[in-house]
Amino acid sequence: MDIKSLIRNIPDFPKPGIMFRDITTLLQNPDGLRGVIDLMAAVCAPLQPDYILGMESRGFIFGTPLAYKLGVGFIPVRKPGKLPGAVYSVEYELEYGTDRLEMHQDALKEGDRVLIVDDLIATGGTAQAAAKMVQQAGAELVGFCFVVELLALGGREKLPNVPIISMVEY
Ligand code: 5GP
Repeated sequence: MDIKSLIRNIPDFPKPGIMFRDITTLLQNPDGLRGVIDLMAAVCAPLQPDYILGMESRGFIFGTPLAYKLGVGFIPVRKPGKLPGAVYSVEYELEYGTDRLEMHQDALKEGDRVLIVDDLIATGGTAQAAAKMVQQAGAELVGFCFVVELLALGGREKLPNVPIISMVEY
């Protein structure tokens, strides 16, 4: 299956000069959706995660079926103010300003093996913030899995020294 051919490229979104990699066309293709989840499951299974952790909101789309397929639990990392329980909270840099991600404090315990999943890694700031929360919880980060990696932005340099797996690269 050619994943790249199912990802639509939209120039100048959300701003002039940005080439947006639109995964909605991959999702709506039945073979594409099943194929990408099956592929992620095959390459991530050897990392033996206990949990998939996915970032709001496109990390939920790929992370939950991956967790289902691997037979493990899913942990949502959310934008501020959405989770009802006590949270870990990490601020991270955007191009202009900062943003924040949150995770329930009791979602993970020491020694849990966690795989972080998102649709795309660009600068790596989002994934780095998620990794910090896994570390705050005392859990073990076993790797990252992305559908798309934008190589020119060097996001993986920001991440801890664990396997960083992407399905397609630009
Ligand atoms: P980073 O924090 O690595 O700079 O940005 C990654 C986050 O931004 C991901 O959560 C991803 O959903 C979103 N993102 C940035 N650029 C794109 C893009 O071109 N396509 C998609 N689908 N998401 C993007």
